[in-house]
Amino acid sequence: MTTNHELFQRAQQLMPGGVNSPVRAFKSVGGEPFFTARADGPYLWDVEGKRYIDYVGSWGPMIVGHNHPHVREAVERAVKNGLSYGTPCPAEVTMAETITRLIPSIDMVRMVNSGTEATMSAIRVARGATGRNLIVKFEGCYHGHGDSFLVKAGSGALTFGVPTSPGVPKANADLTLTLTYNDLDAATRLFDEHGHDIAGLIIEPVAGNMNCIPPKDGYLQGLRELCTRHGALLIFDEVMTGFRVALGGAQAYYGVTPDLTTFGKIIGGGMPVGAYGGRRDLMQQVAPSGPIYQAGTLSGNPVAMAAGLAMLELIQAPGFYDQLAARTRLLTDGLQAVADGEGVAFSTNRVGGMFGLFFTREKVDSYAQAIAADTAMFNRFFHGMLERGVYLAPSAFEAGFVSSAHSEQDIADTLEAARGALRAARA
Ligand code: PLP
Repeated sequence: MTTNHELFQRAQQLMPGGVNSPVRAFKSVGGEPFFTARADGPYLWDVEGKRYIDYVGSWGPMIVGHNHPHVREAVERAVKNGLSYGTPCPAEVTMAETITRLIPSIDMVRMVNSGTEATMSAIRVARGATGRNLIVKFEGCYHGHGDSFLVKAGSGALTFGVPTSPGVPKANADLTLTLTYNDLDAATRLFDEHGHDIAGLIIEPVAGNMNCIPPKDGYLQGLRELCTRHGALLIFDEVMTGFRVALGGAQAYYGVTPDLTTFGKIIGGGMPVGAYGGRRDLMQQVAPSGPIYQAGTLSGNPVAMAAGLAMLELIQAPGFYDQLAARTRLLTDGLQAVADGEGVAFSTNRVGGMFGLFFTREKVDSYAQAIAADTAMFNRFFHGMLERGVYLAPSAFEAGFVSSAHSEQDIADTLEAARGALRAARA
């Protein structure tokens, strides 16, 4: 039998860190990742045959559980007709019709192949349409690996960013201003100073890449007003929250209308898909109807569209999001009760089908609080859960995801595992 360890040894010789995306390597929590052999419903099985209740869901897409027959069969049907055409195909039109129907702020949409492509393209549209160069983002929010986003706040009074990765030119980082999430006063001050040069502000409307941090009451509305007043575009990065916190995404959940929205994850049903869209007058400026260039050999791929459309059918079932939110609540309330019972400082956040766990007594609504929580405790807890057959995101700074396939029994088993893992982590 091939073991996880053997595979990781081989992988490390051949791929940077042994993986094709960094967080999979367990660097943040320590130890070695497992290699998945198959997935079904709420479970993953590794190459050694061990089963895990999975709260990562391929980092978000698997909102109906893994390997759902409706999605799989749609893919099987599509594959029979060929893998890629390089011409328009009917499923692209159905996909655009579905997105524009489900998300009222989107009049027109462009399909791409990842969330990163979607956010890179959206800020190009913001710059192209406004004729301005500056982009505003938030510390702790992740928008993929585009140069403009791998930027953190610089020191000193100025908010101009500095690169967080070698290879990102300083000149590029100079065009990204960084703000503190959930601090409207700071945003107001920044716009007062630089508003006339700001092309767009991009935000995860529920932050899911610094653990899970919902917006404070009125915060997104406040950002909407600032952008409107200063002629900047409001871009909601709904790669994670889209079709996750509500059928209409975070913009429906909080009742705020962005100018542009980006998607990924769920919209591809597990295939590599992203999308960006928004107001007609903006999207019509994208090539070939307008001068803002963006393209993709495999964009709108028929197999990927089939998977995404099948997924979007499933999530439109009546009551889907109510049930998902109730399951998520069962999990977070249950974990809180277990932690309280064990005397462990702990708090949770949740919106729809996404959640965050923090080893602190405080209710967390800022990046500073998230990074101040006890990450060493999280890492011990993570490994305790993994040992007991529960897979949480391998980092204290990632949101967790519940799927409609997680049963009450799966949640009960998770809570039982948590009791043991907390006891072991505390010892
Ligand atoms: N935006 C958000 C909010 C994300 O969470 C991610 C990925 O996790 C991305 C963008 C980038 O998407 P991708 O990894 O598909 O490039």
